[in-house]
Amino acid sequence: MLKTLATVLAVGAMALTASTAFAQDKGLIGISMPTKSSLRWISDGDALVAALTAKGYTVDLQYAEDDIPNQLAQIENMVTKGPKALIIAAVDGTTLSDVLQKAADAGAKVFAYDRLINQTPNVDYYTTFDNFGVGVLQANSLLQGLGYPAKAGPFNIELFGGSPDDNNAFFFYDGAMSVLQPLIDKGDLVVKSGQTGMDKVGTLRWDGAVAQARMDNILSANYSDGSRVDAVLSPYDGLSRGIISSLRGVGYGTADQAWPIISGQDAEVPSVKAIIAGEQYSTVFKDTRELAKTTAELVDTVVSGGTPEGLDTKTYNNKVKVVPSILLTPYAVDASNYQKLVVDSGYIKADDLK
Ligand code: BGC
Repeated sequence: MLKTLATVLAVGAMALTASTAFAQDKGLIGISMPTKSSLRWISDGDALVAALTAKGYTVDLQYAEDDIPNQLAQIENMVTKGPKALIIAAVDGTTLSDVLQKAADAGAKVFAYDRLINQTPNVDYYTTFDNFGVGVLQANSLLQGLGYPAKAGPFNIELFGGSPDDNNAFFFYDGAMSVLQPLIDKGDLVVKSGQTGMDKVGTLRWDGAVAQARMDNILSANYSDGSRVDAVLSPYDGLSRGIISSLRGVGYGTADQAWPIISGQDAEVPSVKAIIAGEQYSTVFKDTRELAKTTAELVDTVVSGGTPEGLDTKTYNNKVKVVPSILLTPYAVDASNYQKLVVDSGYIKADDLK
């Protein structure tokens, strides 16, 4: 009797080991995210881990804290563990060539995540959103907030761009300027500082403090004569918060001096709160849960030897090759639709906005 029980247990244990081994059999995926200083990347990392683990992969998730050597070292370390694939949201999209060569030599597939990796043949796929479209949404929301063209202007606008080492920053800016430049040319929008072009408006590492300091300078140099900033193109919520602080410092957000119309991106909790409070006009919601899910499915297809279908093979040239991409849809969010888009969808909990 005892013997039988022991046999049953042993067989059971073997079955358990076999099924555990089977679940983990699909190999290691390295995930390298840029920073925890922005909420979106934390959501991205968590969602990727959940999706890949559910498919039977083991994962190694690392955050680089916006430091290029740190990210390089983390990826080097992942490569030594023999991953099937690397999923990388680069801090600087041009500095990974050497480590990606090592990854390719070791047989790992490389997936650029949200941000394209440039100047290397060793990036196999790219999953992101329609980044040009993000800029178009930001610019159109500014016009909507200004009431243009029913209100004719001219309106004073100042422009901010993202980090010049992030390929996305140029797509956001170009998308926005495809809408704004014709109106600047017509004189309906006026950039009083004269600062236009990514070389002048870019914000290294997407740093809100850098945007705040630049806004301080713009205000003192161009708006001390009593003129008003009517709108600010901001490509990311973290920059918008810096810009809002600067504006608050010189008296905006009071009965006498209403907030300018300010855009953003990522639907971060503090910024959705700022939209509800009327400080920020809009943001762009990109459902990072969808991006993670789509990426995990693509990784699984490729690593399992399948051929992914329906990829965009035109939009993203990384200066060495066109990287096959999946582009998800971004959505403009303002006070009128945040409930539906970001709360009802479960992206942000209603309680977190209180
Ligand atoms: C992402 C944005 C984000 C920005 C700053 C970009 O590459 O696409 O969603 O706002 O980085 O983290």
